[in-house]
Amino acid sequence: MDIKEKDSKLQKPKSGLNFIEAMVEEYLSSGKNGSLIYTRFPPEPNGYLHIGHAKAICLNFGLKEKYNGKCNLRFDDTNPVKEDTEYVDAIKEDIRWLGFNWDAEFYASDYFEQLYLWAEELIKQGKAYVDDSNQEQISKMRAVPTEAGIESPNRNRSVEENLTLFRQMRNGDFPNGACVLRAKIDMASSNMHLRDPVMYRILHVEHHRTGAKWHIYPMYDYAHGQSDSIEGITHSICTLEFEVHRPLYDWFCEALKIHHPQQIEFARLNLTYTVMSKRKLLQLVQENHVSGWDDPRMPTICGYRRRGYTPEAIRNFAEMIGVAKRDNVIDVSLLEFCIRTDLNKKSPRTMAVLNPVKLIIDNYPSDQEEYMDAVNNPEDETMGRRKIAFTRELWIEREDFMENPPNKFFRLYPGGEVRLKYAYIIRCDAVVKDNNGTVMEIHCTYFPETKSGMSESNRKVKGTIHWVSSKYARRAEVRLFDRLFSVPDPDETQEGKTFLDNLNPTSLEIKESFIEPSLLSEEPLTSYQFERLGYFCIDKESTDEKLVFNRTVTLKDPWAKQQKSNG
Ligand code: ATP
Ligand code: MG
Repeated sequence: MDIKEKDSKLQKPKSGLNFIEAMVEEYLSSGKNGSLIYTRFPPEPNGYLHIGHAKAICLNFGLKEKYNGKCNLRFDDTNPVKEDTEYVDAIKEDIRWLGFNWDAEFYASDYFEQLYLWAEELIKQGKAYVDDSNQEQISKMRAVPTEAGIESPNRNRSVEENLTLFRQMRNGDFPNGACVLRAKIDMASSNMHLRDPVMYRILHVEHHRTGAKWHIYPMYDYAHGQSDSIEGITHSICTLEFEVHRPLYDWFCEALKIHHPQQIEFARLNLTYTVMSKRKLLQLVQENHVSGWDDPRMPTICGYRRRGYTPEAIRNFAEMIGVAKRDNVIDVSLLEFCIRTDLNKKSPRTMAVLNPVKLIIDNYPSDQEEYMDAVNNPEDETMGRRKIAFTRELWIEREDFMENPPNKFFRLYPGGEVRLKYAYIIRCDAVVKDNNGTVMEIHCTYFPETKSGMSESNRKVKGTIHWVSSKYARRAEVRLFDRLFSVPDPDETQEGKTFLDNLNPTSLEIKESFIEPSLLSEEPLTSYQFERLGYFCIDKESTDEKLVFNRTVTLKDPWAKQQKSNG
């Protein structure tokens, strides 16, 4: 699929608005809430944010920006077992890096007291009860959607008894699992979420914010909507799997007679060649399949950042894929297209040789040096020009030479001519090999009148190759990343296999390379286009003694070519 085709498939509806924007505009024109929209991004601090979260962030903060509204950052920290402040800090850093600011920062745990009081209120209304059935019994009584469930023997406990038991739960009088608080809704509902859902469970666990204060913790469904309500959220945007939870969301708001936000569901982002669940990403980290959450092959925001992605590219990607109501899978090459397009505009060109072989120009005096003139970015004149040292001995790519070339090989071969970019045309005269037959030196003749930019240089050759001066080049470790998984749907596995069996064994290749010396003094994350090779950035592990570069993306999509040739 080429990008144009992709574009047309992803176009927004004719009105120019996606369905959520259309709902927001209708809301604003109704004049409700003083025509102010209020959204929130509610991550659970149990892992690092991934590109799917980036989509939700762009959506929620994007609405705030477009409609001059507000957007909160709320940590949905109701599950103390898996949560940690390390994740809280990382999440904030990632949202800021994407270029968004929240109006207020909240934690669902800030509301534990209020949520507790509301739970007592529901008990007093006869709408909640303490059930000492265990988990297994509860799910058995819930039965299946096609048959009515069975009411728990505890369902008709008196208000007084429920209050006493619930207070004892809070007090820590019961062990884990002894009982739960359930909403009393409808055991015959065709929506299983309404069959007396659990509101609170007992957990004798310390919380990263509230410490040992609580022995009961609210369930997501009970905490989420009420947190939205407390913050005055108007549009509570979540992913599609919560559509069936919406009646419950509405039920709590109505039973408590509190501000009632509108829950809206959209399709979560799925990407080819990518796993997106935090649980699986955590497993990749913990089992050392990657070097950490910010391994440049990870689909985490910090992974993309370290790989050289820009916030603009990610935001543009989120904009291009739009907002869908049905689950779909986006081709990861679209994301790669977005970063390629952005870096093409922004990054200076430079030459680097990843797989070097020595080239010696026999008729170029060994004490001679010249400085070749080059533009830093043909897309942007304001980025200036630079001088590149040219000497008798150079490094070129091993792949740019073939001793016995096939037809249409326009690079270097014995007797053949090629242009050295920004410099001269050369002819290959001879090669020197080692005992194994590996080419060690390529000997050439250069033609002084063919210098780039000289008016008399009208001699034409079909190929141009890049090079670096072996006298001035710097050594660098260059890390070539490929897709982490080798199949489009890594979650699809045969019996007895897991997504780990779909890992791409060659997703990381390390090259000892030579680069133009002009790249020395730069900050981590600075990006370059290595001419003819792709976009690269300086890794955080890079030092003056040991330069390290990451390949962000190739210049063209090598997978598209492969797919075509596979038919
Ligand atoms: P995961 O299943 O990967 O663990 P999650 O939904 O549990 O993700 P949360 O931290 O609860 O992660 O998500 C915070 C917000 O990000 C939620 O509003 C959620 O709907 C949204 N979100 C999570 N994953 C995606 C995705 N793949 N595409 C779009 N939005 C997502
Ligand atoms: Mg979640």
